[in-house]
Amino acid sequence: MSKVDRKEIDKRMARISDIFSEMVAHAESLSRTRCPYRDRFDHCTAEFRCRNQNPPAAEDARHPCGHDGDFDYRSAWESQPLAHERAKKKVTKIRRDATRRRNQ
Ligand code: SF4
Repeated sequence: MSKVDRKEIDKRMARISDIFSEMVAHAESLSRTRCPYRDRFDHCTAEFRCRNQNPPAAEDARHPCGHDGDFDYRSAWESQPLAHERAKKKVTKIRRDATRRRNQ
């Protein structure tokens, strides 16, 4: 079995740490201007309303993101993000009640 070279391990760990530090710094600076809900096709994946959402090209398509990256995107987010969850629960209840009435 080969001997472990402690100096070599430390050197490699320092190199890996440097690489990850650069990645984290880049992600942190990018996160100030690129919304985390914006996918690689520049479409919005948020399940809430945002003033930066542009109208979709087709009825079933996602909203293109209209944020130009010059300002903090978070101010355009809906102030009550839980409203989407409440609306989903309400729709589920309406569907369940309608199914129950149909089956009576
Ligand atoms: S439309 Fe708003 S929530 Fe959606 S990706 Fe753009 S900034 Fe983010």
